[in-house]
Amino acid sequence: MHRQSKSYLIVGQGIAGSLLAWHLMKAGHSVTIVDQHHHESSSMISAGIINPITGQRLAMTPQFDVFLAQSRKTYSQISAELRIDLFVPKPIIRVLRSAEELARCYDLNTTSAAKPYIAGIHKPGHYGVGIHDPYGTLTIAQGGYLQTQLLLTSLKKYFLAKGMLIDECLAYSDLILTNNRVQWKSLTFDAVIFCEGFKANKNLWFKNLPYSFAKGEMLKIEFESASLPDAILCQQQWCLPTQKGTYLAGSTYDRANINTIATPEGQSTILKGLNDFIPSKVRVIEAYAAVRPVMLDQKPVVGMHPAIPTVGIFNGFASKGILWAPYYAEMFARTTLPPLIR
Ligand SMILES: Cc1cc2nc3c(=O)[nH]c(=O)nc-3n(C[C@H](O)[C@H](O)[C@H](O)COP(=O)(O)OP(=O)(O)OC[C@H]3O[C@@H](n4cnc5c(N)ncnc54)[C@H](O)[C@@H]3O)c2cc1C
Repeated sequence: MHRQSKSYLIVGQGIAGSLLAWHLMKAGHSVTIVDQHHHESSSMISAGIINPITGQRLAMTPQFDVFLAQSRKTYSQISAELRIDLFVPKPIIRVLRSAEELARCYDLNTTSAAKPYIAGIHKPGHYGVGIHDPYGTLTIAQGGYLQTQLLLTSLKKYFLAKGMLIDECLAYSDLILTNNRVQWKSLTFDAVIFCEGFKANKNLWFKNLPYSFAKGEMLKIEFESASLPDAILCQQQWCLPTQKGTYLAGSTYDRANINTIATPEGQSTILKGLNDFIPSKVRVIEAYAAVRPVMLDQKPVVGMHPAIPTVGIFNGFASKGILWAPYYAEMFARTTLPPLIR
């Protein structure tokens, strides 16, 4: 085993806990994961999209190149080792809503950060009559989506086969912490790292961090008549073709109702936003809801507790867990027990 190898207990096997476990294991550390059957996991319903240019203002994600490089590396490594195809590259077509948005696209196309991600700025009608695009479209390159459910269920099997995963809910009262050891039931570790998603607001050691969770709803749908390009389409809402002929569509962003219940209001927000650029009848097949673990400053919270060196957190991946988690997991595993980044 690695000379400075440590033993970690990881709480949570969403995208955060899974990738942290993977990178710690690959760095030679001993890892035990405890997960409550993916209960209310945000990762299990995530659309898995990686998109360099997002938001109302068509903003380039800061340091996208760095995050993308690590994402590609991590997901290809897991794909190769587990013999599954995880990342599906797809063009992303942003349907523009105004002359200002169109002008913004031309501006973006002059910046060195965004230029490699712009595949075209197209006139109305370029993608056919299935899309309502009076101001044209921006086609974004190097995006796509991760098959997140496949990743989590495959990694779960992999971790179980290696005896690394315990399928249960960890109770904080079962943990005994000292300055250099963590005891959980009969097992001892150098550290426990919490990757609990939005359950972190109940965590004894981290419940007072500045959380600003956001519920998100999403639908599985079928279009009745639209003939659409094989791409992720987006405006205020987005839709993503799945491999089974259906689409995922979403999503809402609700800071007021932090629960995992799909609602008629959420459904109607998504369908209305979708209808603005895809004027086809839609059949709803299924509705989902989960809570994004978001911090007030929208940045991840990664590292060890300032007063208790055996307790850490790896959370706050907001709407960018698929892009960000590989980078922070690799960094965490490389530095081991880093001070809290805040
Ligand atoms: C509708 C929607 C769409 C989204 N789409 C995208 C997207 O396209 N791209 C993107 O990058 N991000 C997207 N996100 C955000 C993404 O889902 C999150 O960034 C990511 O899933 C957070 O992962 P996590 O591992 O931190 O949390 P979670 O996925 O919530 O995982 C937490 C895990 O901890 C476990 N757990 C908690 N407490 C305990 C305990 N006491 N004992 C044992 N286990 C415990 C739970 O069972 C769960 O499995 C979307 C989110 C939503 C809601």
